Amino acid sequence: MLAKSILTRDSRYVWHPYTQTATAPAPLPIVRAEGVYLYTEDGRKILDGISSWWVNIHGHSHPRLNTALRKQAEVLQHVLFAGCTHAPAVDLAESLISVLPKGLQRVFYSDNGSTAVEVAVKMAYQYWKNRGATRNVFIALHHGYHGDTVGAMSASEISAFTDPFKRLLFDVVRVASPHCYRCPVGLQRESCDIDCISSLEKALNAAPHSVAAVIVEPMLQGAGGMIVWPAEFLKGVRRLCDQYGTLLIADEVLTGFGRTGRMFACEHAGVTPDIICLSKALTAGYLPLGATATTEEIYQGFVSQDRSKTFFHGHSYTANPLACAVAAESLRIFRDEDVLARVKRLEELLKQGLKPLRSVRCVGDVRVIGGVGIVELETDGGRSGYLDEIGPKLGAEFLRRGVLLRPLGNVLYVMPPYVITEGETDWVTNQVKEVLTTIASDN
Ligand code: PMP
Repeated sequence: MLAKSILTRDSRYVWHPYTQTATAPAPLPIVRAEGVYLYTEDGRKILDGISSWWVNIHGHSHPRLNTALRKQAEVLQHVLFAGCTHAPAVDLAESLISVLPKGLQRVFYSDNGSTAVEVAVKMAYQYWKNRGATRNVFIALHHGYHGDTVGAMSASEISAFTDPFKRLLFDVVRVASPHCYRCPVGLQRESCDIDCISSLEKALNAAPHSVAAVIVEPMLQGAGGMIVWPAEFLKGVRRLCDQYGTLLIADEVLTGFGRTGRMFACEHAGVTPDIICLSKALTAGYLPLGATATTEEIYQGFVSQDRSKTFFHGHSYTANPLACAVAAESLRIFRDEDVLARVKRLEELLKQGLKPLRSVRCVGDVRVIGGVGIVELETDGGRSGYLDEIGPKLGAEFLRRGVLLRPLGNVLYVMPPYVITEGETDWVTNQVKEVLTTIASDN
């Protein structure tokens, strides 16, 4: 009997994330991956232009990461993390603390980006409660995206992603983010920062003693539209959190580990958040792992003879040793190779390749930060935002050309693994140019 194609079996039993089966093309049957390329069952070689949902940084099938994983698998695969500890988790915590913004001192593990955020929100909330303060309000930013669990969705912008669940979510106060290109009052960059900051200040002023935390995606708001901030705005957020005595949560699930050109996006503004959320590139795209790091002061807020002050949160796979071992090896790669210089070079090439597209008729804005190049399109007739029909159409055309991109509606972006070569980067930006120029001349 002939073995059935993986696609036939998939269509019968599997349910894919963020996929409307009625309209989506069949999934790509991937059999292996190496460097920046994915290889399909039917013999195609596809450049992974979005780092497998923003997780991959050193390339697929990296020899050092493979070895670290294999070695760890031979010794200890998993053990519960309440009442037990192990070297991979401790090694990783030490290494993380040595590279994180100064002042972050304690690492709490979980297993993905959404849980890293859930942990941050619960940690901030209970920290105040343990101190006898009632601080129930979270301030979040317009265009924010923090994950798909209920707490993370609550902190995210109301959007197609959260709309079906809105009655399940807790209220947050939403303030302006510096989306300079879509600034409703059409202000210039510098004054725009001031305007957005005053929106946060007003919200803090309205409830000066009730705000548990302000949560932001520093410098680059991802799924909400790939919005790049001026660093001054982030400095302003930190200043206001200090002034009003509240906590700053930095969701660096996307931006952490070099993606914006610095090891962590907070470094662009020289700020240390009170709590930072990490995942995605933490394991260089190998295994699911989340980490929420905080200050000693917040940690001490949970240390008490009174057991009700315990942080009652944990997941079965907390601090999985395989994931921790790979993550620690990834940080050693950062130490041994100048990974951030690689991102800098990628940034230059993305600027060179994409900035000239500003003159193409359908292009509204081009933004580049670190290893992320963004082209925001002006489409007419389509639904704006994520559900704009242009997104899947563009995705299909890029795939036909051999590069995997998943535009967020009218926002097209490339975010390849940092090991992409100069020639490959030029090839990708040329594909973007050709496709957009064709669209512009068709309309
Ligand atoms: N925060 C941010 C900023 C993200 O971009 C994402 C995922 N895109 C998440 C949280 C959620 O991460 P995960 O998908 O691993 O749950």
